Amino acid sequence: MARIAVDLNRCQGYAQCAFLAPEIFAMHGDEALLYDPEADGAPREKLDRAAAACPVQAVLVDAVEPDDAGTGAPDASAEGVSRAR
Ligand code: SF4
Repeated sequence: MARIAVDLNRCQGYAQCAFLAPEIFAMHGDEALLYDPEADGAPREKLDRAAAACPVQAVLVDAVEPDDAGTGAPDASAEGVSRAR
């Protein structure tokens, strides 16, 4: 099961993620984004597509919990998301 995190300081409310994975992301009003960090109910490829579609790259898939930091190698599968230049 994938875990996700959204950098809400970066999120601009474009709602691309909510459009591509509505099981996980939902807009609340014009700007506030709600999401399920456990990402239950959506296949991994759908999450990857939602993360790739975010114009400001605010969605991280397989985010490491702060408590887990330093206790082992994180899953690096979130690496490699292409960035526009
Ligand atoms: S696509 Fe990115 S900027 Fe838009 S609502 Fe989702 S996380 Fe925020």
